[in-house]
Amino acid sequence: MIARIIDQLKKSRTVLVASHANPDGDAIGALLATGLALKTMQKAVCMYNESAIPAVYRFLPSVHQIGHKMDAIGTYDTILVLDCGSLERVGSKASRIKKGRTIINIDHHVTNTKFGDLQWIDPQACATAEIIYRVINLLDLKIDSAIATAIYTGILTDTGSFRFSSTNQQAFAICADMVEHGTNPYEVAQHVYGHYSLSRIKLLNLALDSLEISPNGRISIMALTQDMMDMTRTQEEDIDGIINYARRIEDVKVAALIHEVAGNGRARRQYHVSLRSDGDVNVALIAAQFGGGGHVNAAGFSVEATLADLKHKIVELSETTPGLCEMN
Ligand code: 5GP
Ligand code: MN
Repeated sequence: MIARIIDQLKKSRTVLVASHANPDGDAIGALLATGLALKTMQKAVCMYNESAIPAVYRFLPSVHQIGHKMDAIGTYDTILVLDCGSLERVGSKASRIKKGRTIINIDHHVTNTKFGDLQWIDPQACATAEIIYRVINLLDLKIDSAIATAIYTGILTDTGSFRFSSTNQQAFAICADMVEHGTNPYEVAQHVYGHYSLSRIKLLNLALDSLEISPNGRISIMALTQDMMDMTRTQEEDIDGIINYARRIEDVKVAALIHEVAGNGRARRQYHVSLRSDGDVNVALIAAQFGGGGHVNAAGFSVEATLADLKHKIVELSETTPGLCEMN
């Protein structure tokens, strides 16, 4: 399968590369590294993401080449979908992409639905950027400092700065290699983690204030509403990382951050839920029960519900998940 992917990329002239909407560092890093590398092969490449690039990633060299439009899907020989557990994760253009000629699915989510014509899915990979590093090497392409910094940023952010359980030997080996190829780790860290807008700190304050802990102390839940986002003038990207405060609390095994995506004025609203766990609790299993997915220790899903019902359901499901249920 890997050989077929490499072969397909070699023979394609036009390639659409896409990653998931509301992108994180890995979705952007993997997309950018792939797009820039394929361009060195003189291919016509469109780098696509549905959402705006979060402010903290706008320093990435050549990041402006990522666009929010694509040509008619039939014009692409190959469509590379990166860091998406399911095709729907690319956003509103998923049904259009589905009609593409050859779809390659490169990802590291354990819940990947194996969509597309060719797949390289490696749940052991610390980031999709790790797999992209291997693709670039198999294609025998040169890694310049822009590609190196994109890959480094993908791995740095998806391993939580080398702290998550996804942190493997490859994370360090590849990042060392990327530094050799021109990445400045201090500069990346300063951009990604060094400065937060005042708005973001105010949002964090509201999130901390919303914190609730289950009676046995093992589940923590924070909830952010559209009103809070409006009040602090923040956007979806500002929520990134806030859940870690809920996860870090002593004795907490599962942390959830609920955020209202769209209020429709009624009691039932559209929510996105992020889940994180420490150790042995598999939150991808919990997310999957709501139609979402992710990794063992980091997963998510979207749902229409009332806030009270949703909190109740999260606690109930978490309590019966292996790793937690034995503790009761
Ligand atoms: P986050 O909580 O940061 O949105 O996502 C955590 C992990 O879960 C990420 O790896 C992300 O790709 C995955 N994830 C988040 N939301 C969804 C979802 O709605 N569906 C699926 N399949 N995966 C999700
Ligand atoms: Mn990823």
